[in-house]
Amino acid sequence: MTAPGSSEWPSETVLEPLRRHLRYPSSEFWIGPGWYQLALRCHEVLVAEFPDYVLFAVKQKWAALVVQADPRPSTPNGADWTKEEAGRLRAVTAEFDRLSRAVCESCGRPGTLRGTRHLRLTLCDDCETAVPPGGLWRAAP
Ligand SMILES: [Zn+2]
Repeated sequence: MTAPGSSEWPSETVLEPLRRHLRYPSSEFWIGPGWYQLALRCHEVLVAEFPDYVLFAVKQKWAALVVQADPRPSTPNGADWTKEEAGRLRAVTAEFDRLSRAVCESCGRPGTLRGTRHLRLTLCDDCETAVPPGGLWRAAP
């Protein structure tokens, strides 16, 4: 079993393709290693339709994966995309939010919502036992 907070696939490797889309290059990815592949798949779906999409954040919120992005860089005059494009982008990120609710954020195996900490997390049985009460981990890009 992989210990919480560690991974044989470090975020620097798995999430490297996302870094090029970060609006703020010093941003960090606030998710556990169990969700790296989900975040990468979300990126692949987004980049297929929006090659220049702009990434603001990848994080865990209410025990789910949150990806905040715009379809492309905005211009000085404002948003440079249609409502339909924004809607399609939100549909993609919402789908990965939904998928993450069944994946352990620590190890990537099937997980469920755990309410035993001050912070709600999606974890498998093993990680529910292993992740400490303060149990938040993060990965720098
Ligand atoms: Zn787990």
